[in-house]
Amino acid sequence: MNTEKTYAAYLDQQDELASFRDEFYLPENTIYLDGNSLGLLSKRAEQAVDDMMASWKTYAIEGWTKGNEPWYYLSEKLGAMTAPLIGASSEEVVVTGSTTTNLHQLTASFYQPEGMKTMILADTLNFPSDIYALKSQLQLKRYDPAEHLVQVESNDDNTLDTRNIINAMTDDIALIVLPAVLYRSGQVLDMKTLTDEAHKRGIPIGFDLCHSIGSVPHQLSEWGVDFAFWCTYKHLNAGPGSVAGLYVNRKHFGREPGLAGWFSSSKAKQFDMEHTLTPAQDAGTYQIGTPHLLSAVPLIGSLEMFKQAGIDNIRQKSLQLTKYLMNLLETELADYGFTIANPKDDTTRGGHVYIEHPDAARICKALKADGVVPDFRKPNGIRLAPVALYNTFTEVWETIQILKTIMIEARYKHFENERGIIA
Ligand SMILES: *Cc1c(COP(=O)(O)O)cnc(C)c1O
Repeated sequence: MNTEKTYAAYLDQQDELASFRDEFYLPENTIYLDGNSLGLLSKRAEQAVDDMMASWKTYAIEGWTKGNEPWYYLSEKLGAMTAPLIGASSEEVVVTGSTTTNLHQLTASFYQPEGMKTMILADTLNFPSDIYALKSQLQLKRYDPAEHLVQVESNDDNTLDTRNIINAMTDDIALIVLPAVLYRSGQVLDMKTLTDEAHKRGIPIGFDLCHSIGSVPHQLSEWGVDFAFWCTYKHLNAGPGSVAGLYVNRKHFGREPGLAGWFSSSKAKQFDMEHTLTPAQDAGTYQIGTPHLLSAVPLIGSLEMFKQAGIDNIRQKSLQLTKYLMNLLETELADYGFTIANPKDDTTRGGHVYIEHPDAARICKALKADGVVPDFRKPNGIRLAPVALYNTFTEVWETIQILKTIMIEARYKHFENERGIIA
């Protein structure tokens, strides 16, 4: 393992995506490794917001159909721009809602309990919002979540075993919802195998792509995944509260959404104002009301960058960055009580590194005080996300040096070992 700074500089020189960094607003004197929580603003995303304001100014109501980006078609257009990131066709994707509301919509649409089949299968490691949504969907159908939500356990508190998930696909399961990449350990689940096994048993399956989209390529259509949903403010860099997305496999086209609204309508029929819905014949039908355009437009600029960079190139650099980070941790910080708790191999490692330490909360505070932005996950985890579009190998090298100094000098002891209000 070459631990010299010159080697980091060499890797940066070889990096074919290096020029994208100049397109982002990087916080000053900061190494930002939290792009998996909130991606950074790019100049192209900013420009798209300016264009939106100009179009409102210029066109007023006519903006729905006029200007460079007519608002009436934008959710579908952004869906088409997202499709290559997840291996879907354009009509299978739409930009709408939030992660959690999209999960509500998709569960309302795909959870159809019947006879013995009444259970929803999830896991114990998923993000809480997904679990709350599933529980409330069960309650709406008068099922007790304590009995009807089955959560696959982890053997090591960090990862899920594919065989355990498959064993839990019993006759009483009506729907499966799982993350594509686990938000703490960054494990990439084997979506292809899980989808095959679910379908052998006649169970629809959907994935939460919050931590995978924009970081890991997917082949959702090829795998036959029934549905998926995600946010756009993490790896997709569309800004705080930006509009989310969803995917529905074309084999389900033509159905009515579980939660309907006038934007679920076929676009040609929508303004007929009929009281009987004519559903759009694509994923667009899972929209509900008027799109939140001001928080959707940053995606125009951001997704153009993904198209230009290519998701396979992004994945390749991301794997290189996280590998380099892990190698430096193992050689430079072997004696300081850190455990690398993310999967280490390239097929199951997502876009961030997850390390555990008993003093994790205050080590994070010490890192922030020294200009490195990680994030803390209870009870003892530190996530470090070097992002392919804007982080460098030199930043990874510097992070390790800063962390090493914090540990050698025990500087973390100046802080309390508790999380802040936002971690
Ligand atoms: C970030 C994240 C969410 C957030 O949900 P919102 O509705 O966007 O607030 C939900 N689920 C997972 C797995 C996440 O990583």
